[in-house]
Amino acid sequence: MTINWQAEAEKYQDDLLKDLFELLKINSERDVEHKTDAAPLGPGPAKALQAMLALGERDGFKTLNVDNVAGRIEYGAGEEIFGLFGHMDVVPAGPGWVTDPFEPVIKDGKLYARGSADDKGPSIAAYYALRLIKDLGLPVNKKIHFIIGTDEESAWVGINRYLEVEPAPDFGFSPDAEFPIINGEKGIATFAVHFKPIAAKPAGLTLRSFKSGLRVNMVPQTATAEIEGSFPDALIAALESFGPDHGVQIESTTEGNRMTITLTGKGAHAQEPKAGVNAATYLATLLAPFDFDPAGHRYLTTLADLMHDDSRGHKLGINYTDKVMGDLTASADLLTFSQDGEQSIMVNVRYPQGTDADTIRDQIETAVGADAADVSVLGHAQVPHYVPVDDPLVQTLLGVYTKQTGNPGHEVVIGGGTYGRIIERGVAFGAQMPDQENVMHQANEYMPVADIIKSVAIYAEAISELVK
Ligand code: ZN
Ligand code: ZN
Repeated sequence: MTINWQAEAEKYQDDLLKDLFELLKINSERDVEHKTDAAPLGPGPAKALQAMLALGERDGFKTLNVDNVAGRIEYGAGEEIFGLFGHMDVVPAGPGWVTDPFEPVIKDGKLYARGSADDKGPSIAAYYALRLIKDLGLPVNKKIHFIIGTDEESAWVGINRYLEVEPAPDFGFSPDAEFPIINGEKGIATFAVHFKPIAAKPAGLTLRSFKSGLRVNMVPQTATAEIEGSFPDALIAALESFGPDHGVQIESTTEGNRMTITLTGKGAHAQEPKAGVNAATYLATLLAPFDFDPAGHRYLTTLADLMHDDSRGHKLGINYTDKVMGDLTASADLLTFSQDGEQSIMVNVRYPQGTDADTIRDQIETAVGADAADVSVLGHAQVPHYVPVDDPLVQTLLGVYTKQTGNPGHEVVIGGGTYGRIIERGVAFGAQMPDQENVMHQANEYMPVADIIKSVAIYAEAISELVK
């Protein structure tokens, strides 16, 4: 039987949009302040999960709800389990929306709503692919488990709970990224550098405090230092010239012998620190040449000498490149210094296969000096994940993608983390098209309706190939 996948997918457009609108109207951001026993991550994630499972029930699939934090829609029978991994939670709407983020609207063929591209739109595309396979009665010789998480944007509570109590699929993909594919994801670890006490000594300037960064996975946009002492002319001159010289903004206010300096760079996701301008390391570079107290001097020079303008970690001695997975990246993202309190730097590292978190920890400690600081891994490291390009899973997905779009298929390794890494033979596949701007997590998030329908067609053929 020859199937026109695109034509079959188009038949579902009205039904699909109606279901998707229902899901998008639910604000399903993590909201543990309002958690209940029936909604452990807050009311929204549980409600969206139940709505998704209700679609499965309606259409005659078997469904399972795991503690209202994860779920499954099931089809087919066989020895092996093929998995699909989507999520029903969203990141907070945030400011800057032209329309109501939870009142979906279609303008110029684009569906605007929080979650349209990440991940309710792609998830519903994968779901309708299953419906298409079922409605056409195509051969299915494996169990298909469509697994739905509700905490992908935070701590993965839902999916982790699911895997504690339900079997992991043998292979599968997550429709929560982009085409052509993501078959490799670097390891992710955050290293906490905590400085040890140091003997005081008179100096011209004292670093009272230094603060920068919001999250361990974001390059800091602003940094603020409070300094005290008598300010040399060279510092006053540097405050004038440093901004224009380095393309950053500097503001300072002075009150008697105290000065507060704020530097603004550019925030970015830590998976590619080069996309940002790290406000903390720039501010440290501006201040480090001056005569600071020992603790302040050590803190500023560590940042300026070992972490500034060095996204590949050469100065820390952690640089590493794998010919398939690419470069290790490093980013000083969360910085806290007070003269009498905590003095720490959190360094977020994305590393390819061939090195590991313990090795990197040792290397950072050697660079900073074991006398100066303790270095530890914050939480637990996520190890690198890679499914070889010649794996039949990858080959099948790329083949279908190329056949249906005419675009070349090739392997892609990223520094981020998707549900693709949950199982050994897991990848991320779509649904963002290569010519499409990435609007996930942004205000006015949208997904072109045509891309949702195209994804149904691609997913249906790909799943059908993999389970026949
Ligand atoms: Zn997502
Ligand atoms: Zn996301």
